[in-house]
Amino acid sequence: MKYKLGVIGNPIEHSLSPKIHNIFSKQTNINIDYQAYHVLENSLDNFLKNFFSNGGDGLNITLPHKINCLPFANTKSSLVNLIGAANTLRSDSSGRIFAESTDGIGLVKDLKNKCSISSANILILGAGGSALSIIPSLDACKPRNIVLDNRSKNNLERLIKRFSDSNEIHSRILNLDNFNEDIDLVINATSIGFSGSFNWHRELKINNETVLYDLSYSKDHNQTPFLKWSSQRSEKYFDGFGMLINQAAASFALWTGVEPETNITKLDLIND
Ligand code: NDP
Repeated sequence: MKYKLGVIGNPIEHSLSPKIHNIFSKQTNINIDYQAYHVLENSLDNFLKNFFSNGGDGLNITLPHKINCLPFANTKSSLVNLIGAANTLRSDSSGRIFAESTDGIGLVKDLKNKCSISSANILILGAGGSALSIIPSLDACKPRNIVLDNRSKNNLERLIKRFSDSNEIHSRILNLDNFNEDIDLVINATSIGFSGSFNWHRELKINNETVLYDLSYSKDHNQTPFLKWSSQRSEKYFDGFGMLINQAAASFALWTGVEPETNITKLDLIND
């Protein structure tokens, strides 16, 4: 059997997902045909219908389709229901489509190799789609507090309210304005990415033991602007490459039932 898989997005050309899944395929001896598909917003519906009615087994969903793919799913995980977005679709043998979000699982799996999450004061910079998708998985690790800060106060308050009103989130979700303790872990969930240097609009209570983690990642050994900023403040800083590998592994396991090894390096992708 060969699984028909892929990733859709706009843009999609720079996606590392085909390489990552092909490494998983070799490692597990599971045959896959995994392609990157450039899908525009107005052709999403047609693409999904055609892909799954022509034997598609599963898809990764990236920007800008993480929300708009949901009407196509017959069932959704409780996490997808909570955050209203998915990054993985899976077709079962009767053609029913299941939607899942593996970003938060991927982040937590990677972070667990780098620091302790339980009892930590976690600060998330940013209040967009990725901040929304990682909060439930961080909450499940029982941190001391989850604190948020964001450039735009409206988006920040909207996100805090969304989780404060939810029975499914047990941690305190706080605005940094109301928080004075030291921070153990800072997660950069802004889309500043590679545009210029990183600066935050206020001083953060961090020290050289604070773990600094960037959801953005470089494909090589160049540092992201957030990591350059981090390297002047702490000894412990990481980019989101490990999250990328681990969210992909969780999708692969959902499609095939087999969990691949996640010890892939950037060099493995360059050499593949
Ligand atoms: P969104 O567009 O949904 O949110 C962007 C956030 O960044 C907002 O909070 C926005 O603030 C903030 N922001 C943008 N520009 C600036 C700036 N110049 N200064 C301060 N804040 C800024 O993006 P996503 O949440 O979807 O993505 C964020 C990052 O996470 C991306 O770089 C993406 O590549 C990465 N990511 C990595 C993954 C991985 O596997 N490693 C998985 C998923 C995402 P405001 O509200 O004020 O506009």
